[in-house]
Amino acid sequence: MLSYLHAFHAGNFADVQKHAALVLTLVMMQAKKSPIACFDSHAGSALYDLTSERARKTAEADAGVQRLWPLRPALASADWQPLLEVLRRHTGKDDQLQSYPGSPAWFAEFARPGDTITAFELHPTEGRSLEAWASSAGVRVVQQDGLTGLLKRLPPAQPRLLTLIDPSYEIKDDYGQVADTLIRAWQKCRHGVYLIWYPILTSGLQQPLIDALEKGPVRKILRSEVMLEQPPERGMVGSGMLVVNPPWGFEPRFAAMMNDLRGIDRLGITASQTWLVPE
Ligand code: SAM
Repeated sequence: MLSYLHAFHAGNFADVQKHAALVLTLVMMQAKKSPIACFDSHAGSALYDLTSERARKTAEADAGVQRLWPLRPALASADWQPLLEVLRRHTGKDDQLQSYPGSPAWFAEFARPGDTITAFELHPTEGRSLEAWASSAGVRVVQQDGLTGLLKRLPPAQPRLLTLIDPSYEIKDDYGQVADTLIRAWQKCRHGVYLIWYPILTSGLQQPLIDALEKGPVRKILRSEVMLEQPPERGMVGSGMLVVNPPWGFEPRFAAMMNDLRGIDRLGITASQTWLVPE
């Protein structure tokens, strides 16, 4: 029984880190002409109303993208621009963000003819709203488990691969399954670029995922972490991204983007980046 709904969390600080990594990766991969097979293993419903009851109940976007938006002139890296241009189209008359794109919408914004997007979503209601949105966005929706669905489709027909793995981690076992799936996916497509999001929890539940990958066969795993300066006593205190096979030059550019966030006083986050597994 799936109970997680991303509408309660869309646009929070973790989404900002995750979607910044996704957009930079896409833009950098598209510097080469060859088509890319894009997979979104846990897609959500694509478009989130930031004024909805669900969004207002947690107000997570207020400490994330809503706080960042008016502070955007302080973002020094030019790599924020593609993301900001998309967000601008989500503002109302008062320059406030009204809605926020989920990962399938970010993929769709940047896809070129020839690139394909396959989005998996298991939650029946989320899957239905994703399906309704996807038909006009050129996104193929599959309402089944994203980890097994991804493995079935690798290696792709296209010469290049970009995969986002962004589960809700509702089940403890998810951490181990993500590690296992990434290893099996990499064995099928070693040159693929894989982005894996994980929460940083006071319980440390995420550690088996990190340990398994640190000891496993996959090479070239960049690890970015964003931490709340005033964390809650329990629960999620930070947001992590693993980037397997980042495009050449990604490392300093993404570090500069995350350092921009660290430099904005009112955002209240710190950022770090290291190689979990080098080449
Ligand atoms: N990737 C989205 C984004 O960045 O906008 C957010 C996704 S949210 C964190 C995780 C989603 O995965 C939820 O919508 C949930 O219903 C879905 N989900 C949970 N288990 C799944 C599974 N086994 N396969 C596919 N989707 C699943």
